[in-house]
Amino acid sequence: MSTATLTLKTGREKSLLRRHPWVFSGAVARLEGTPKPGETITILNAKGNILAHGAYADRSQIVCRIWSFHADETIDPSFFRKRVEASLQRRAIFGNNCNECTGLRLINAESDGLPGVVVDRYGDWLVGQFTSAGAQAWKHDLATVLMEMTGAQGLLERTEGDACSQEGLPEIRAPLLGIPPPETIPLREHGLDYAVDPWQGHKTGFYLDQKDNRLIAREGCQGMRVLNTFAYSGGFGLNAMAAGASHVTHLDSSTTLLSQAAANARLNHLPEDRFDYCKGNAFHKLREWRDQNRTFDCIILDPPRLADSQAGLMRAARAYKDLNWLAFRLLAPGGRLLTFSCSGRVAADLFAKVVADAAIDAGRNAMIQRHLGPPADHPVALAFPEGRYLKGLLCVVD
Ligand code: SAH
Repeated sequence: MSTATLTLKTGREKSLLRRHPWVFSGAVARLEGTPKPGETITILNAKGNILAHGAYADRSQIVCRIWSFHADETIDPSFFRKRVEASLQRRAIFGNNCNECTGLRLINAESDGLPGVVVDRYGDWLVGQFTSAGAQAWKHDLATVLMEMTGAQGLLERTEGDACSQEGLPEIRAPLLGIPPPETIPLREHGLDYAVDPWQGHKTGFYLDQKDNRLIAREGCQGMRVLNTFAYSGGFGLNAMAAGASHVTHLDSSTTLLSQAAANARLNHLPEDRFDYCKGNAFHKLREWRDQNRTFDCIILDPPRLADSQAGLMRAARAYKDLNWLAFRLLAPGGRLLTFSCSGRVAADLFAKVVADAAIDAGRNAMIQRHLGPPADHPVALAFPEGRYLKGLLCVVD
């Protein structure tokens, strides 16, 4: 057992009893001992009973992230070995519903019982994010076990972004164990090839969370004119073309990413003359095309996270409404819209309402054909609703 203890205020243990893995500073009555960041501490209720063991974070609003709710559990290297083993076991059963996919999320943070730890596999390489003090304290043990269990050649650390400033952690982009990965890693997904950039790419290099939806985007695409907004490295558009789309327009604000999307099209020998690459701000471009009465048969809307705080929620809802309204205006009769939100703060029912309002304002009669979400290698713990960030709808208009 750890030496430092954190005692909660009376009545503030409710979320822990529901196995939510975060302790906020406002719930704390007192801290006894002088734990270092990432050190394991024991959480007690106001009566002094043990609730859980977790990692102390002195510079975060979340002062402790729980490793275990078992009073007699020891948090040591063998604990992390068991957690990694369980995560890999879950993927062996559910994770790989695609036998032509070499990308897999191996560890999905809180939902796999490892707060702050995200590890993605791209073929022979692992890319990890360790965005909590506890994840930082144990990352070498985690990397050792992961390398051993997967036979990967190396693990690159990409601890970056908002999470670092919120947790008071330095940004790290460096090999953690094994051989550093090459500039690009070959990835295969649903029979298509991609060059993933593990060093500069977003997150760990690829949006693995859209894996199932990229396959769904193929449905009935034959002969369709497809608009892939927020294209990144081209994923949705490449799948649509592989399924026989007549034309795909990729729209993104980054020229570098559009050239990656073009390189990925060449990698798959897809017909270059049936792709368009448009650099621009989606909010402006869609409006311009609406003014020109342009139409598409299928539109994919996969914007980056638009709500980054509770205060920004209404602004984000308006932005989602605007984008979806424009998309409904641009759809040809019988067209379809795959629309997503990856803002954790925008709940699924709010998102559906915003999309419904957008359709009404655009004067379109639409139905939801499918509810979309993350694939099975991105499990969401029932006790951790914050993990449920990606939601989407496949809508069909009259
Ligand atoms: N659909 C992609 C992931 C999209 S990530 C996939 O499945 O791989 C979001 C993308 O939106 C990034 O490529 C980013 O460059 C782009 N982006 C961000 N803001 C934008 C804007 N205002 N207009 C157009 N593209 C934007």
